[in-house]
Amino acid sequence: MLVLKFGGTSVGSAEAMLRVAEIIRSHDEPTVVVLSAMSGVTDSLLVAAHAAARGEHGAVRSVVEKIGRRHHEAARAAVTEPHLGPLLAQFEAWLDTLDRVYSALGLLREASPRSLDMVASYGEKLSCALMVGVLCSQGVNAHTLPAEALVRTDDNFGEAMPLMEPTTAAARERLAPLLAERIVPVVPGFTGATSEGVTTTLGRGGSDYTATILGEALNADEVQIYSDTDGVLTADPKVVPVAQPLPHLSYAEARELSFFGAKVIHPRTVLPALDGCFPVRVRNSFNPDFEGTIITADPELAGGSVKSIAYTRNVCTVTVEGSGRPGGPRVAGRALGVLERLSTDAFLTNASSPEQNLSFVLHAERASAVVRELKDEFADEMRRGEVRGINVRDRLGVFAMVGETLGDTSGIGARVWAVLGRIGATVHGFAQAPSGTSFSFVVDGDRLDDAVRALHEEFIP
Ligand code: ASP
Ligand code: MG
Repeated sequence: MLVLKFGGTSVGSAEAMLRVAEIIRSHDEPTVVVLSAMSGVTDSLLVAAHAAARGEHGAVRSVVEKIGRRHHEAARAAVTEPHLGPLLAQFEAWLDTLDRVYSALGLLREASPRSLDMVASYGEKLSCALMVGVLCSQGVNAHTLPAEALVRTDDNFGEAMPLMEPTTAAARERLAPLLAERIVPVVPGFTGATSEGVTTTLGRGGSDYTATILGEALNADEVQIYSDTDGVLTADPKVVPVAQPLPHLSYAEARELSFFGAKVIHPRTVLPALDGCFPVRVRNSFNPDFEGTIITADPELAGGSVKSIAYTRNVCTVTVEGSGRPGGPRVAGRALGVLERLSTDAFLTNASSPEQNLSFVLHAERASAVVRELKDEFADEMRRGEVRGINVRDRLGVFAMVGETLGDTSGIGARVWAVLGRIGATVHGFAQAPSGTSFSFVVDGDRLDDAVRALHEEFIP
């Protein structure tokens, strides 16, 4: 069986949805469909939640109306009776509930991660009901069911982790009978629920993750992730217009690329594939004949050693500066503990043992929370002068060059430094993944695009 996942732009309009229906119909094998919300809807739902918590009722009303109008219009264009009437009634019911949730947030003046998850889940509910309407109008027997009944997670709202055992049991119990009857289940991505049934989300972009979670639960032969590019490219085409699609990536390469900011798949997407051992194929719903990128366990050793370059803007370094005196406090373990407590991932970590300095590269928006917590952790040492300071350098960017064989190829480092030297980009940190799969560099934010372009030209002709 297959899991087919379609992202926000792939379901962003009636025409896009009709294209998706065609792709679904072109597969003969049993298929589970996972969808994102229509493009932009999750953002709008979250913006409205914050507006609600500030008491801005007018802004909230206009967001809900706009979302309603967009779904109604698409439904009128792609869904026929007898499916249209009940679909529009379902939209009304959900938008009504959503309205009441927003009013509650207004009264409470709060938009906690838990509330945000509940609000955000409506985007996927709406797109799935719409897609079922489109499929049924074409004579495809399709059915949507709540992700809350399928994907069981912990209660880390906003970034929940799936619990595979109950998820596998629920997915098999609820989805297998539908597949046996040749009904296409259409499952909202991104959403799950705690064991108490409280709605959670898997983090922004998490619908990809839903697809591979269900792929693992159901022993899928393949998971296909459809977006609006021809698979995974050698770089972001917005920065490198000559970027080309890659035919093949390893799980490790895909994980590194998404971690360092390649938007095409969610960073945790390949984790279930590692255990389930099924390939993940990244395809373009607007160019369905194109094979896309296949992601499997075995690295493709042939070809250039740098396969793709990913980047993230708006990062900073946070440095814990030790005293440099022998026998000073060991900062590394405790500083890493702070990141762990704040559930913050560092893109890379640089340490100097004799100086007892340790520096992390983080998303800039995480800096103030991390600095506050580090100052707390090392308050005594700072008073005694054993930790000299906790410093932030911002307006940086990080990029990673990714390829399974990078660590085993001599001369790459020299070429990277030569290119960065030639364009005059200062390096504020760098690291090689212990596996050798990525080299990552931190540069000034305003040099990031130049660096990525120049290195793409050097390594990916
Ligand atoms: N709709 C959610 C988001 O925008 C999840 C997804 O699209 O994967 O983040
Ligand atoms: Mg996505």
